[in-house]
Amino acid sequence: MLPTHSVAPYATPSTKREWRKPVAVRPILIYGDPRLEAPNEPVEQFDDGLQEIIRDLLDTGWKAPGLGLAAPQIGLNLRLATIDLSVGKDPEAPIVLANPEIVETEGKVSLEEGCLSFPGLFTTISRPRRLVVRAQDAHGEWRSIDADGLFAQAVCHELDHLDGTLLVHHLRGMKRQMFMRRVAKMRKLGVWSTTG
Ligand SMILES: [Zn+2]
Repeated sequence: MLPTHSVAPYATPSTKREWRKPVAVRPILIYGDPRLEAPNEPVEQFDDGLQEIIRDLLDTGWKAPGLGLAAPQIGLNLRLATIDLSVGKDPEAPIVLANPEIVETEGKVSLEEGCLSFPGLFTTISRPRRLVVRAQDAHGEWRSIDADGLFAQAVCHELDHLDGTLLVHHLRGMKRQMFMRRVAKMRKLGVWSTTG
């Protein structure tokens, strides 16, 4: 499901071992942490510090495991996210989205969706079937990425995070109430912790 013209991976690993070696797995913030809904600043410096954050995002995503992770989910309020539909299996698969914007969408599809900040919960959300996202890569180069299917869904999900929009914000009425009841149950059972 990866596009054939996927953008540059964040790094070129010299060996498979090096690629898969976890660098820094950070705690993923759970719903309720204010940093998930705080404003996110544009990425301005594409320096070594940013490369480190990108590695942390990928490592944390692989460990979770998840298909993507946004910087606010590890407590960094930056307009930055990574997506890796291969979850660490394909060194060419990771995509870095810095300062991303969706510039075109097509169609609509209802899809089941989960989020690492709502562990164990899923809901159905309407997403574009296809989209074009414009974003800077790890080195600050602007790219246009055409995405459909699972890839388009992942892009929408991570971009939502950069606007402080979470799964629950897509739900209305009874559906939202039911979801919030499941959230309360997770908290009560002690499955979720907001420390991080
Ligand atoms: Zn999420």
